[in-house]
Amino acid sequence: MTRGIRVLSPQLSSQIAAGEVVERPASVVKELLENALDAGARTISIETEEGGNQKIVVADDGDGIAPDEISLALARHATSKLASIEDLDTIRTLGFRGEALASIAAVARVQLTSRSRAGSSGMRLKAENGRAGKPSPVGAPQGTVILVEDLFFNVPARRKFLKSRTTERRLIEALAARYALAYPSVRFRLVQDGRESFSSTGSGDRREVLAALFGVDAAQRMIDLSAAEMEGPVRVSGFVSPTDLSRSNRRDILLFVNGRSIADPALTTAVVQAYHTLLMVGRFPFGAVFIEMPPEDVDVNVHPAKAEVRFRSPDAVFSAVQRAVRQALLRSAGSSGVPAAAPWPTRTWATGGGSGPGPDWMLDHAPDPSGMDSANSSAGGAPVLPAGEIPLLRPVGQIGSAYLVAEGPDGLYLIDQHAAHERVLFEAMRREQTGAHVSQRLLAPEIVDLPALQASALNDQLEMLRQIGFDVEPFGGSSFRVRSVPQLLGALRPEDALRAVVEDFEEDETPLAAETEARLIARICKRAAVKAGQALGPEEQAALVRALEACASPRTCPHGRPTMIHLPMDLLARRFGRK
Ligand code: ADP
Ligand code: MG
Repeated sequence: MTRGIRVLSPQLSSQIAAGEVVERPASVVKELLENALDAGARTISIETEEGGNQKIVVADDGDGIAPDEISLALARHATSKLASIEDLDTIRTLGFRGEALASIAAVARVQLTSRSRAGSSGMRLKAENGRAGKPSPVGAPQGTVILVEDLFFNVPARRKFLKSRTTERRLIEALAARYALAYPSVRFRLVQDGRESFSSTGSGDRREVLAALFGVDAAQRMIDLSAAEMEGPVRVSGFVSPTDLSRSNRRDILLFVNGRSIADPALTTAVVQAYHTLLMVGRFPFGAVFIEMPPEDVDVNVHPAKAEVRFRSPDAVFSAVQRAVRQALLRSAGSSGVPAAAPWPTRTWATGGGSGPGPDWMLDHAPDPSGMDSANSSAGGAPVLPAGEIPLLRPVGQIGSAYLVAEGPDGLYLIDQHAAHERVLFEAMRREQTGAHVSQRLLAPEIVDLPALQASALNDQLEMLRQIGFDVEPFGGSSFRVRSVPQLLGALRPEDALRAVVEDFEEDETPLAAETEARLIARICKRAAVKAGQALGPEEQAALVRALEACASPRTCPHGRPTMIHLPMDLLARRFGRK
């Protein structure tokens, strides 16, 4: 069936090349937007019909194209942005490959109208099937208008695979929003099938754009990253969601590198991990994270559509992002009227030698009743608290040996005693300086055998275990000699204590030591926390409630499950037919 080797016609080869750049209508919009931004536009308007399948128009008020260069704009590998291979290292523009317009012209009908600042009139040029006609003068305002019609009219295979108009419309909208976020000083307007579907004012205020994306309330409450301390050449700014707002997937974590919207699963994970223990399992944060770094440290030329980038030191970028987000979250949790968890001495929470996790965590002083008043005093009604915080509570009692009932200024609180205690222990243990975790020496060292997989995982984590209070050393094969265990686990047999923390080492995908440590601590706290089914006396209940109030993130346990359910007064009134 072979027909012999032949050189592809220029038209066919440019159609094939075009496929890499122009995958779908949204990719056309992306390229045109980037060109407009590169041209320094202050206002960009985008218009589409049928999700861009029929028609896409992008108009800008940027620099425009000089009359004698307009034909070049459509030529393959013609660009005004790159002159030498060295330039690639310091690229500051969004485009540089000089193939977008040529690619689009190979698979659609294109009309390009432009007037440069210097030009006395505009020029217009049409192209079809990759062939451009002769430019002719035309009256036009400064800037550029590109009209793209009948995308893939000459590539039936592609046309067949076009997604629904609705999908495409949504994609284009998301795209416009991303660029509006990255360029808050540029005014964007997107009209799809005659209706405005997105716009931004160009005021320079990112929160305004966030409001269009995530809603006004969410945008107002999003946490600003820019105040985070940063060392090194990687700068992180932007906004992320507070811990009481979340999404069911990671799609709304928007990432930008040097003004370019990118997809990077590792960096998305960096953001997600910064919320570790602050969100329920299966919930994800959202936000827009902007990374600025020297252009020579990032390679943008790895993907024809420039949707992915490669970092010279990916780990540094990863931890810069994670640190910035984590710091901002902790800062926003700490900046409230309720004191941070500091007043609770950790020894209060450590179980005494072998007495088992029990009432030892109880505090020795009675709850301070005046706390209630200070929380109440603000407005006669419910005080307004920062995201995630809880007001001071008055413990009322325990039900089912599992839940505490408490009254707050704003209604009734049901607290899961196990989850709450887990949270309290977790924060106490994390507050301790590295290496200071209280450990308990065994009377005689004990030899523990582990399954081979766990044993090799444990070998990699010995240092970490030491930091949280284990003294463990390899003892040949898959055996280990245990000399000490964290005091919180002192009630367990050394073997069980070790098992409690190595159980899911194998599935540990967390690259950062700090996060692994947090997980280990979370696991220890789970074992040590008071269980459901344990009756607690009034002082114990009060102590637990006080300790929970003092937590930085009192509403979830370290595994992300809720510690409490809040029934607001309002709801009670409504349920009782009083409202
Ligand atoms: P690249 O952006 O990689 O340079 P393109 O094919 O997207 O390649 O564009 C080719 C050239 O056309 C650009 O380098 C630029 O000089 C010019 N151009 C394209 N769009 C615009 C625009 N909206 N305003 C001004 N010049 C433009
Ligand atoms: Mg371009």
